[in-house]
Amino acid sequence: MNSQKKGVEQLVELNNVDMNFYKSNGLFKKPQELNALHNINFKIHKGEIVVVVGESGSGKSTLANVIAGLLNPTAGTYQFKGKEIHSMTKEEAKEYRNSIQIIQQDSYAALNPMRTMLKSLGDPMLIKKYATKDNLLEEVNKYLETVDLTPTDQFINKYPHQMSGGQRQRALIARALSMKPELILADEPVSMIDVSLRVSILNLLARLNEERTIAILYITHDLATARYVGRDGRIAVMYLGEIVETGNLQEVLSNPQHPYLQALLTAVPIPDPRLSRKRTELGLNGTELPDIANMPSGCRFHTRCMYCKEICKTKRPKPVQRGSSTVACHLVDELPKFELFKKEVRGD
Ligand code: SF4
Repeated sequence: MNSQKKGVEQLVELNNVDMNFYKSNGLFKKPQELNALHNINFKIHKGEIVVVVGESGSGKSTLANVIAGLLNPTAGTYQFKGKEIHSMTKEEAKEYRNSIQIIQQDSYAALNPMRTMLKSLGDPMLIKKYATKDNLLEEVNKYLETVDLTPTDQFINKYPHQMSGGQRQRALIARALSMKPELILADEPVSMIDVSLRVSILNLLARLNEERTIAILYITHDLATARYVGRDGRIAVMYLGEIVETGNLQEVLSNPQHPYLQALLTAVPIPDPRLSRKRTELGLNGTELPDIANMPSGCRFHTRCMYCKEICKTKRPKPVQRGSSTVACHLVDELPKFELFKKEVRGD
């Protein structure tokens, strides 16, 4: 493990990034602006694991697409390894794109159904000159072995439909690895595979991070897997296109300060029903995420927040540092201390 280099070199730096989409409003009207990301300040260092958590519609996949260079931010700056994306030379832009590989949620859609694993993995390696025709077989075998698709000769000539969801996900990881990335964006990589196989895929990602110093951006709506993958890393919690709380994952989850994160934590199922009943209930005023076309004024969470005051409806909260966390909430210093369980369970 290259632990000395881990977390020192900066890979990704987003400053005040906004991402807007435009929705047609009829022939003679101005298109409607939809703000999918607002004022995002976000960093990923070499070899780091960063988890982005939020409901669907919170902007986490849009953030991943901006980082991967698939979307151009409407405002703000984006640097990769200290270089502004827009001022990169053709060669630098190529290297940047190659350094970031995406592992999609739907492995079936991500793999060409007409190609065997040899073609799916081998062709990009030939194009990038990471292998020659002479050593291609050996190289593809090597990557299949790394992701535990063994014995490799049983997988190398298989088509995607001849493999299980977990095996296809491993093949996607092998293909990403063969591009020698510095950052892997894993967008809900286990949400479509069998629950019994999820941990082994998450362990594989953790092993690659540890052994190869590859940074991982893990995107999920599921706090349980977020906690598992990001146990030594950082977390960013997103709500309606904004980061509402961020910091060291262990510290943020043991002392959540933003009401949205507190509500998320009280909603995670607990297997023991007796314990579950003794959990603090942190209600939300409404379960539906507001429509992005009708964005709430002030704090975007105010329509659902049980602590909402007048200021929350009109003024956008600025992120403030509290302990090791950065929190965007006007009332961060006034809220009652959050305890996941009621007093009788805590025994204090
Ligand atoms: Fe709730 Fe107000 Fe804090 Fe927003 S700023 S999270 S509405 S208390």
